[in-house]
Amino acid sequence: MTYIENVIIIGGGPAGLSAAIYLARAGLKPLVFAGSPSGGQLTLTSEVENFPGHDSILGAQLIEKMRKQAQKFGAKIIDQNITKANLSLSKKKVLTSDKNYTAKALIIATGAKALWLNVPGEKELRGKGVSACATCDGFFFRDKVVAVVGGGDTALEEALTLTKFAKKVYLIHRRDQFRASKIMQERVFANEKIKVIWNGQVEEVVGKEKLEGVKIRINSKHEARNPKQYQNSNVKNSKQENIKNLNSPGLNRTYSNSGFGIWDLEFRILPIDGLFVAIGHKPDTEIFASQVELDEKGYVYTSSRIAIEYIKYQISKIKDTHQNSKIFNIEKYNFNYQMITSVSGVFAAGDCVDFSYRQAATAAGMGVAAALEVERWLEKG
Ligand code: NAP
Repeated sequence: MTYIENVIIIGGGPAGLSAAIYLARAGLKPLVFAGSPSGGQLTLTSEVENFPGHDSILGAQLIEKMRKQAQKFGAKIIDQNITKANLSLSKKKVLTSDKNYTAKALIIATGAKALWLNVPGEKELRGKGVSACATCDGFFFRDKVVAVVGGGDTALEEALTLTKFAKKVYLIHRRDQFRASKIMQERVFANEKIKVIWNGQVEEVVGKEKLEGVKIRINSKHEARNPKQYQNSNVKNSKQENIKNLNSPGLNRTYSNSGFGIWDLEFRILPIDGLFVAIGHKPDTEIFASQVELDEKGYVYTSSRIAIEYIKYQISKIKDTHQNSKIFNIEKYNFNYQMITSVSGVFAAGDCVDFSYRQAATAAGMGVAAALEVERWLEKG
């Protein structure tokens, strides 16, 4: 006969382990699949200084403490990956490489991975000046010169966060227009500390023991598509200053009629102390793609996110009549719970849901909320 667990948690990062601590203390003996390698993104971070209760702790140590705490109360942890899931039935089934498991309820806490540039030197210098989280690591760059790569909301937010610490923040974007929201762009353009490098592609991360700079290729023969944008004095200044700062012997620059450069640069080294890669994240949710509703980037929709999206959509519909084709399957969500997915008995927490905050502490909080909701859901039968 198949043994039926109360709850299976998929994910061994702060969301999954916090859920495990709560469910184990409630006597529900959760079964956690912590993955292989286990521990998620936190194990790739060096020091964590912003997890409440810890002045400073290594990411891997923090995860180890959470695991021990969950196990102490009766959680079972298996360091294996789930390869398949069938969540449509009332009993949820998951499969590892060698075994099937069944549970009454399930929490998806698989996290998200930061996307990296995959250029030479980047991997070697991670934690030695190269990071993917300004909120986590910005503090270590007080009065230093740093650069952020990317042109989305995350990159601009990271750049703004870093201005609280660094004396100068370069924002390197591969095109001549940001994809970030207008308000974020305005904030960036208004910030004297941020200097934008347009049409720049980081080709190499340079440094031996620690980061020393980045090798950038500026797309040559590229004329600004949106000269109006550059009429903002900050941006114009930033272009001029970038050129001076890009250690560039034999710099060859000509001007178009608009007065803004047709660039003819090749590779240049930009000396920096910190590099923050902010080119997006990828949630680890592929195996759930046909099981629960995901957004277009793969983040799991929970009832609270759907509620917010639906209200935002209704507001935008009032303002803009073109926005009337979007469909929300709100009938699939049980709004008595905040962390529930489109499937009954399946909850989600942490970075696989949350693309905004992405902090160990927020993931832990979401894990706790999911655990409390699972407890309530199991009680109701
Ligand atoms: P994103 O919107 O996908 O932007 C990624 C950026 O990285 C793009 O500008 C892209 O350039 C650039 N990029 C991608 N691959 C690259 C590469 N190999 N080399 C150099 N540049 C590369 O990702 P995101 O900024 O993380 O945002 C994800 C979602 O979260 C978005 O919907 C965003 O609005 C949302 N978000 C919201 C907030 C907020 O509301 N406070 C905060 C953060 C994020 P191209 O533009 O050329 O493609």
